[in-house]
Amino acid sequence: MQKKRLLTGLQSSGTLHIGNYFGALKPFVDTYREYESHLMVADLHALTTIRDGALLRSNIIDVVKDYLAVGVDPHEAIIFKQSDVPEHTELAWLFECLVTVPFLMQGHAYKDKVAKGIEPSAGLFNYPMLMAADILLYDTDVVPVGEDQRQHIEYAREAANKFNLAYGETFTPPQELIVTGVGTVPGTDGAKMSKSYKNTIPLFGTRDEIQKAVMSIVTDSTGERPEHVYAIHRLLKSETELTPLYEEHKGKYKALKDALTDDLDAFIAPMRERRAAITNDDVAQILKDGATRARERAAAKMTAVRQLVGISL
Ligand code: ATP
Ligand code: MG
Repeated sequence: MQKKRLLTGLQSSGTLHIGNYFGALKPFVDTYREYESHLMVADLHALTTIRDGALLRSNIIDVVKDYLAVGVDPHEAIIFKQSDVPEHTELAWLFECLVTVPFLMQGHAYKDKVAKGIEPSAGLFNYPMLMAADILLYDTDVVPVGEDQRQHIEYAREAANKFNLAYGETFTPPQELIVTGVGTVPGTDGAKMSKSYKNTIPLFGTRDEIQKAVMSIVTDSTGERPEHVYAIHRLLKSETELTPLYEEHKGKYKALKDALTDDLDAFIAPMRERRAAITNDDVAQILKDGATRARERAAAKMTAVRQLVGISL
């Protein structure tokens, strides 16, 4: 049976932590092989917020390294950079000519900015049509997204429908695939692990960094068990494995934290080492190969589209 097509957009979100891993990267790595997967580094989208060339360049490299390090195989997915396939912006323009301003004004990202009193750029306003183009160009069936991104998939469906209505059946309306991770991973203070809360355990951290983070786990002495330590430990080991350990070291926080440090390090070390071994040249080569494969598909689709709208003679 023909695999369904999946497309996901990658954007660097800085130094990753284990919450990002269990909530987003792992569920992706566990499932992407079931599809014909396209991983797109969303560098044009990033331009709606980043105005620093050096930063964008290093973000592009970092996000590819992150995905490779956690186990994405570039032979089993097309990993490419959005800006390497000019058909994305071309198709976005065609969609922009089909949808109305009031329709785009319903966009959450746009409305949020306005509500905060920020004047949004035209790029941010049009963002949903570029995203629609990203998805529809590859006849994508499913797009893995968090709940907050659901609306963007609706926008893509609407762009497909508008085009199909005007020019005949051309685009497949995509479906969102709501990703379910392990739920919310708690940080060193027991609240949601978030880079902005500075309560993280770094995903590619050195043993020292891991140890420092574990030692900073806030003491929680309400029960017999240090709950904040246990909650993180539970991500790595089963209850059956942990119960005797926590029983043996009852009340000895230091010993339990040492055990957690060891287990985290054993878990992180292979990914950390894999990431360190990937060079910038490796990333450039992977993106180059990915661009060739993505362009081939995008070009075929756009040849048909240009014919339909009447810009190719
Ligand atoms: P910020 O503090 O800037 O919001 P963050 O640490 O929450 O950053 P994001 O960049 O917002 O990280 O999220 C990246 C991905 O990781 C998202 O898919 C998000 O749902 C997931 N994620 C982030 N934190 C956690 C967590 N504590 N548990 C599970 N998933 C998480
Ligand atoms: Mg967040």
